[in-house]
Amino acid sequence: ERNSVRTEQALSDIEDYIISNVNADNIRNFLRYMTLKPHLGGTLGETELAGWLASTWEEQGLDEVHLVPYEVLLSYPSQDLPNLVRILDASNQAIWISAAKQKPLYAPEESLPEIPFTFNGYAAAGNATGEVVYAGYGREEDFKFLEENNIDLSGKIVLARYGHIFRANIADMAEGRGAIGVVLYSDPSDYAPEGSDIVYPNSYFMPPSAAPFGTVKLKDGDPLTPFYPAVESAYHIPQDEAPIPKIPVQPISYEDAWHILSRMGGVEAPSEWQGDLNVTYRLGPGFQQQDLRLNLDVNNIYQQNITHNVIGIMKGSVEPDRYVLVGNHYDAWILGAVDPNSGTAAMLELSRVLTQYSKETGWRPRRTLVFCAWGSEEYGLLASVEWAEQFGKQLADRTVVYINIDMAIEGNYTLRTKSAPLLYDAIYSSAKKVPNPDPEEVAAGRPTVYDTWAHRRPDPRQPDMPLMQFIGSGSDYKSFQHNLGIPCTDFRYTHDNKTLGEPMYHTLYETFELVDEIYDQGFEFHKAVTVLWGDLAVVFSEMDILPYSLRAYADFIARAYYDITTQYSALIASKNITMEYFGKAVENFNSTIITFEGNLQNVDFENPLQVRKINDQLMMVERAFIDPLGLPGRPEYNHVVTAPSKKDAYSGTAFAGLTDTLVAITEASEDQLDDLWRTFSHHLAAVTHFLNTAAKVLTDDL
Ligand code: GLU
Ligand code: CA
Ligand code: ZN
Ligand code: ZN
Repeated sequence: ERNSVRTEQALSDIEDYIISNVNADNIRNFLRYMTLKPHLGGTLGETELAGWLASTWEEQGLDEVHLVPYEVLLSYPSQDLPNLVRILDASNQAIWISAAKQKPLYAPEESLPEIPFTFNGYAAAGNATGEVVYAGYGREEDFKFLEENNIDLSGKIVLARYGHIFRANIADMAEGRGAIGVVLYSDPSDYAPEGSDIVYPNSYFMPPSAAPFGTVKLKDGDPLTPFYPAVESAYHIPQDEAPIPKIPVQPISYEDAWHILSRMGGVEAPSEWQGDLNVTYRLGPGFQQQDLRLNLDVNNIYQQNITHNVIGIMKGSVEPDRYVLVGNHYDAWILGAVDPNSGTAAMLELSRVLTQYSKETGWRPRRTLVFCAWGSEEYGLLASVEWAEQFGKQLADRTVVYINIDMAIEGNYTLRTKSAPLLYDAIYSSAKKVPNPDPEEVAAGRPTVYDTWAHRRPDPRQPDMPLMQFIGSGSDYKSFQHNLGIPCTDFRYTHDNKTLGEPMYHTLYETFELVDEIYDQGFEFHKAVTVLWGDLAVVFSEMDILPYSLRAYADFIARAYYDITTQYSALIASKNITMEYFGKAVENFNSTIITFEGNLQNVDFENPLQVRKINDQLMMVERAFIDPLGLPGRPEYNHVVTAPSKKDAYSGTAFAGLTDTLVAITEASEDQLDDLWRTFSHHLAAVTHFLNTAAKVLTDDL
């Protein structure tokens, strides 16, 4: 039992209230307002939206609302010189030029003058001319395939497909291999699988003219103030030392990519790299017609602008210094009706319902609820990273959970959840309470969001459970999970597996009309996500004993230990390195949890010091995995269990510092091996130490 009888009743009252009061029309109205105009990070559109969010929260009756500004380095396309990709002939005449903006237009707001030329955030300005090489999805294995086929990238322009990994990793690997530019596009086989007749506005599949924007900066936060907040007194590193790309990068549509791919020479690309454009995809380098060259002309500029977080607070009545964070970014590449404002609309409806409940009943949350609207996320999580840098000490000391929603919906097929293992049970349990927004699923005997999730996205390792994805990066939970050690989750309603991602993601066509007419007529899926978000938030704000799933964490760690020791047993044994201490620490964590959970049976809920002591110990578990020195070679990630993958910041597996080093060892040349094995042994000892620490903090002992 984790609740007194009184708490149990109060919690169930507020949960019922959320379910019956979250209103789909309100969410629709919030979304309609926010998506009338663009609100790109650091622009007037973003500042205006921040002001509107703040006044909305004030009107709703939150106790405090703060606008928190940071001055950060941002990147914009030139206002008069569009970024262009050209094919040049022998006399440097362009025989083809890419589109400067996406057209045709379907909704009136798509023609507003603030809509920028097509660009990738932080792509360097530059004019590069050279031979083009097709690199498939631009994953590490794709670049290796090119190497094995003796295709050298130095001095070349890489053409790669969006879809499998974070685009900044594609750009970074291309730059690291000497490429002088990168062109990115989305292939219709991944985003318009039913052919170009059935695309937006007739379906949610990608139209030929769509070109997804997106940051190509790999390290998160303001580029000029790494590790410290971008406040007035900040020290700024020189711009040429900032961790941003040194080469031009540019997205184009698939109708434009066809002009390049259809002319390319070289050998045929492997079958997995063949897409649905009506051409034979070739690797290059260069074009069949030998005197043609690809030209990439990028005119982006850097600007130091102000971006804001809007922080709205509902003060806790019993433990005001314990925080439940809920958050979502509000900046968008263009109109942002899916990413992120489907989530912002949900957050505004949630704060409306909770403040209304408070007014009607006098209820105050036990712990403080903090609503966070983040600025300039799209550029690389700028304002949430700066905030975590500025308030990291308080936050790490006091925050019990961070529940991030980037998009509330990007489809209407199933829930998709990334999470720290400590939150698994609470999420399962909340998802079981949320009515299924899909009437056909209800008719099929699946009355809750959980049921459809378990049915449509089962965990392959335990098929009777829904899949919980690894909490990699890609949205604002990054600093909280991976630097501060606060357990985080990020969920949304998503699409089926016909496409690699949401087809209109980061394009001009991500409009209110897309959401209102195609993804969520009636806004019932938004409502379901809002209810789930609210339920989790109040479960964490109200419960006497924090509902962390220690068991799930221990199982997650034990499985990761098993995977590593199995997969790399021969390699590790060849070096005479013992995994025994690591194994014992895994066992120690496990047995300590059994004891701790046993003791929970005897909690005296009337003894506030005892309740607080237990919760303090619980909160330290995730913190215990934070290594102040960071992962090997990656000081920007501190969590030894949950860091994102080196090769794709969106994803990952447990103990990235260990597995990345082992992979590097399998690929290293003879002269690198000693250093790598030393790194491995050193980090193995650190991981073992932090695991023992995570067990120790669950005891009263020193
Ligand atoms: N959410 C943004 C994207 O996926 C930014 C992610 C990041 O910089 O980590 O492009
Ligand atoms: Ca900073
Ligand atoms: Zn987003
Ligand atoms: Zn985005």
